[in-house]
Amino acid sequence: MEARRLMSQAMQPSLNRRISASATEWPWWRTTRQNRIILPWLILIHATALVGLILFPLPGWHVVLGAATIAWLGGIGTTVGYHRAIAHRALRPHPAVRAVLIFLAMFNGSGSPITWVASHRLHHANADTLDDVSSPALHGFWWAHLRWLWQVDSPPVERYCPDLDHFSYRIWHHLQPAILTLSYFGGLYFGLAAFFWLGAIRLVFSLHAQCFVNSVCHTEPNTPFGEDSSRNVRWLAVMHFFQGENWHRNHHARPGIACLGWAWHQPDVGYALIWVLEMMGLVSEVRRIRRVGA
Ligand SMILES: [Zn+2]
Ligand SMILES: [Zn+2]
Repeated sequence: MEARRLMSQAMQPSLNRRISASATEWPWWRTTRQNRIILPWLILIHATALVGLILFPLPGWHVVLGAATIAWLGGIGTTVGYHRAIAHRALRPHPAVRAVLIFLAMFNGSGSPITWVASHRLHHANADTLDDVSSPALHGFWWAHLRWLWQVDSPPVERYCPDLDHFSYRIWHHLQPAILTLSYFGGLYFGLAAFFWLGAIRLVFSLHAQCFVNSVCHTEPNTPFGEDSSRNVRWLAVMHFFQGENWHRNHHARPGIACLGWAWHQPDVGYALIWVLEMMGLVSEVRRIRRVGA
């Protein structure tokens, strides 16, 4: 009931439009005061990744496997932790599991949970309307893919996630610099090739995998202006390690359930993991589609 109340509260007519009329006309490099660190960070990881790809284009299978494993774990942190558990309350993880998922998401560059969840609930409440800060239908591909990250302030916590406004979530915001420093430099322990691949190259890959959900999964053709243009994008499943986020039309149709892939040909590793964790007693209150008569 609480989750439903929060979602309906977020779906009330907008009280304050998050994109100022001029923001989409700013030069790409201009940032809001609140987000001024984001653009330099993104430039840093892209520049480092480029150098890494030039110096170590073939770093060896163990380094690639290590980078892919961290990206996989980070993707799980975002889809199971941030998205399904915290933003939509489609499941209730054990507090220790929730903390691990948050750490993995932050280590993979998804930002702090309060920021992520507030932006995501705003997106659902206003999908592809003028108040949707990441709509490609209204603002174009690059805006939806990246620019809104540094050109729009985070939505107000008191409106979009008052349920997260306490110490156990706020603390992660303060831990973010340390976690990202470890994420960027940590691979150095295993050598220079690992520094580039486990750090910046993995961060850039994971960033764009996530950003495609905004920029590509909201491009359903022939959608009337101002209406939800979410779509399922099959090829994105590969970039998401089949974790399920690419079934975005399904998700917009039933945002409150834990399962994103609805058929055998829509793999959803995130949901499979939820099922395993539930069997182990580490996850409870998993919300599923109720069938009539079931
Ligand atoms: Zn969406
Ligand atoms: Zn969602």
